[in-house]
Amino acid sequence: MVSTATPTRPDPFALSEEERSVRDTAREFAQRELAPTVAQRDEEERYERGLFTRMGELGLTGIPYPEELGGAGLSYFAWALACEEIAAADMGMAISLSVHVLSQLCIFSHGTDEQKSRLLPPMTAGTHLGAFALTEPGAGSDAAALSLAARRTDDGYALTGTKVWITNGGEADIYVVFATVDRSHGPEGITAFVVTPDTPGFVVGSHERKMGIRDSPAAELVFEEALVPEADRLGAEGEGLKVALGSLASGRISIAAACTGLGRAALEHATRYASQRTQFGRTIAEQEMIQAILADAAVAVEASRLLTWRAARLRDAGGSINAASSMAKMFASDTAMQVATDAVQVYGGAGYSRDNPVERFMRDAKGAQIYEGSNQIQRLIIAQHLIEEQGRADR
Ligand SMILES: Cc1cc2nc3c(=O)[nH]c(=O)nc-3n(C[C@H](O)[C@H](O)[C@H](O)COP(=O)(O)OP(=O)(O)OC[C@H]3O[C@@H](n4cnc5c(N)ncnc54)[C@H](O)[C@@H]3O)c2cc1C
Repeated sequence: MVSTATPTRPDPFALSEEERSVRDTAREFAQRELAPTVAQRDEEERYERGLFTRMGELGLTGIPYPEELGGAGLSYFAWALACEEIAAADMGMAISLSVHVLSQLCIFSHGTDEQKSRLLPPMTAGTHLGAFALTEPGAGSDAAALSLAARRTDDGYALTGTKVWITNGGEADIYVVFATVDRSHGPEGITAFVVTPDTPGFVVGSHERKMGIRDSPAAELVFEEALVPEADRLGAEGEGLKVALGSLASGRISIAAACTGLGRAALEHATRYASQRTQFGRTIAEQEMIQAILADAAVAVEASRLLTWRAARLRDAGGSINAASSMAKMFASDTAMQVATDAVQVYGGAGYSRDNPVERFMRDAKGAQIYEGSNQIQRLIIAQHLIEEQGRADR
């Protein structure tokens, strides 16, 4: 008889031992140390610095950076795996950590050897928290329109202006700040700086009163002739937008990973609840309309993960990731929002209660469609890529 069984082949998506180990470390930490208190921290809008310190002890605060700089020396893919696990328990901590890793990337990719060896080891160790300050009241999606001024002084720069919505604002030890040395130069005037909280003329302004991820801090930053030495300029004058956009392309992969984790958690809760809740004499999971909700969510979460993994693998292989990371971020955040909203629906009235976690998932998911480039902006990036590719093919 001819066997119809599929011959055993290696799983093309199998994780290496190292990847499994970092994922398991993150999962165990997230389930044991984040999940039990996340609802309380959300309710109190409280960032708990000790949890970041703990992630540092576990080697989770600098996964994709080299060991000689205190990092774990692992791939960006491994970082994405860890980020999914943390977000599955606590989206706020995942986003705070993701921005920390993003700020490190600006320094790692564009800093001098002296800047890297001075700034990165405390960040990879989890003793110093990073922030990435690009958005201003008048410059959100149009980041190139930023107006925070960097006036040259004898031995550095004086920064004047305001940033808003800065994740980790008020808690961070290292701020990567984007300013312009000359607004008349447009994008070519934008320059990146590292600013520490003790800088004279730099103060943390009001804290953002957020809808979701309320255990992750975000604040306004105010600069009034804040003096930054030349040694703390990242890259050359005029290279700032390259620093920001290049780093954000990678940062979007971890946002996608976090959204995959949130979607996964929402689906798990919805499936469990549907299997327990009885109406009309049977569980609601036995109703086909509820099954369709769960099945659609499962497909979308799986697709989010595959897009995320593809972008991360591409990055590790040194490929161009602009379109791939935008696709992953856009799809995974739209999916997280849809699945979290559907989870509330599956719970019915109980889903609308703050006593159950699915309403938090819904609030937490919304922000990801906005930050690190709104999903409209991701669509522009993807479309631009398509048009350029077509142009190349037609030449
Ligand atoms: C929770 C949270 C955390 C954040 N953390 C940080 C941080 O750490 N650092 C930082 O620098 N910033 C941060 N931000 C800011 C975030 O990056 C901006 O909110 C985002 O880039 C959008 O800018 P905006 O809010 O000014 O909206 P706007 O740019 O004013 O956009 C408003 C709406 O118009 C749409 N839109 C704008 N331009 C176009 C266009 N050309 N085509 C189609 N639609 C368009 C947008 O998609 C959006 O829907 C954070 C924001 C949030 C909500």
